[in-house]
Amino acid sequence: MMGGTDLIRLSASAIAGAVSRGELKAEAVAQAHLDRIAAVDGKVNAFLKVLSGPALEAARAVDLKRSAGKPLGALAGVPVALKDNICAAGAQVSCASRILDGYIAPYDATVVERLKGADAVVLGKTNLDEFAMGSSTENSAFFPTKNPWDLGRVPGGSSGGSAAAVAARMAPLALGSDTGGSIRQPAALCGIVGLKPTYGAVSRYGLVAFASSLDQIGPFTRTAEDAALAMSVIGGHDPRDSTSLPAPAAAFAAPTGDLKGLRLGLPKEYLEGGLEPSMRAAFDAALSALKARGAITREVAMPHTKYALSVYYLIAPSEASSNLARFDGVRYGPRKGGASGNLLELYEESRGAGFGPEVKRRIMLGTYALSSGYYDAYYLKAQKARTLIKGDFDAAFEDVDVLVTPTTPAPAFRFGEKTGDPLSMYLSDVFTLPCNLAGVGGVSVPAGVSPEGLPLGVQFMGRAGEDAGLLRLARALEDAKLFSGEPAL
Ligand code: GLN
Repeated sequence: MMGGTDLIRLSASAIAGAVSRGELKAEAVAQAHLDRIAAVDGKVNAFLKVLSGPALEAARAVDLKRSAGKPLGALAGVPVALKDNICAAGAQVSCASRILDGYIAPYDATVVERLKGADAVVLGKTNLDEFAMGSSTENSAFFPTKNPWDLGRVPGGSSGGSAAAVAARMAPLALGSDTGGSIRQPAALCGIVGLKPTYGAVSRYGLVAFASSLDQIGPFTRTAEDAALAMSVIGGHDPRDSTSLPAPAAAFAAPTGDLKGLRLGLPKEYLEGGLEPSMRAAFDAALSALKARGAITREVAMPHTKYALSVYYLIAPSEASSNLARFDGVRYGPRKGGASGNLLELYEESRGAGFGPEVKRRIMLGTYALSSGYYDAYYLKAQKARTLIKGDFDAAFEDVDVLVTPTTPAPAFRFGEKTGDPLSMYLSDVFTLPCNLAGVGGVSVPAGVSPEGLPLGVQFMGRAGEDAGLLRLARALEDAKLFSGEPAL
């Protein structure tokens, strides 16, 4: 019988297999991960809410189902952590914001419904930058999450809690959301796999909207195989999300590593700017490893890349200013002011007290960009530039199959290093934002370790709908074993 320390080392695929075959009890797996959370999350602060009771209950139900002779789902007994902007019925969904204090989700997001339907076990809700706006979790209204590799550094963001939970072996699988990099950037900084699926490949029903034309839910795992397994469960058409792709879930079979003739594009605009030497070295080593497995590389031009950051910071805040208008102290969370019967005062006081500084900054940016007289100059122009950026991707994918870039310019930064300068924080996502603007899929894969012992990630971006191919490539990079080690916790 395996002990708790062995159980927290298992991949999601291994857990699901063993639980389905009756070699392992889902309850023991859940308990081992809850024990791990109790032991290390006081240091890491990945979770906003641990759902111990419901998790053990769900695990026991999986075990009962098996002893009753019923077949189990693809994620049998797999503990899953959910970013706290994804609704799970009966649990908090705070978006790490005071404005949703005390709010309980009334229904399951489609992804949660599918996880539960596949016999996964929801462990808890993880920390994030407030409303997913940020790159470090320092914008959480509650506390920052620490990077398990170095507790003095950020785990990235906005899905930093989910990334840290998987890296620190508190869960083999977590879900996050990615609007401009919030799955891939924290995955890179925490040394794990993070996939932002093609826009529309995973339902957004039950995800609290930040920027609806950019948001996607995706998995964090320690292996590409596990990401494929998670996608086979959460992906696929959902009539409750009007932007859901009509296609059935692509076959996310376990990826294999042969790359013969695969054409990898290196966008020269991504590689001109400031890359930290350790990142450059890891990137070059990753390319050599992929070439050794049969891939060929060629440089591609994506001339509109330089506009991506500005375009993103017009479109995302514009959509956010509209999406967040619903948080007004009337329908959700705490109500402030309005005692005098003045509705405007109620809105102002509830929103003034409920939203943190970054969320307010985004609402103001977006409201300005959408206001009459400025709309054409900012929002409309950004939409046109977005089309050009998407055109760069379309053109590149005529010549190559996959684009390869570093995920971030540098490894994890220290707390406070970028909080005083929003622009430098925004720059953490220069390599990940264009992918969301184009609506294609992107994955970050661990590719090396910096001299200080911090993980470094490489990003693969593919044609819309070809996320399974990205995971095959991720698997090939894993096989090259450029990355090893684990956080000493
Ligand atoms: N860091 C980016 C932002 O602050 C992206 C966030 C995200 O992908 N949710 O908007």
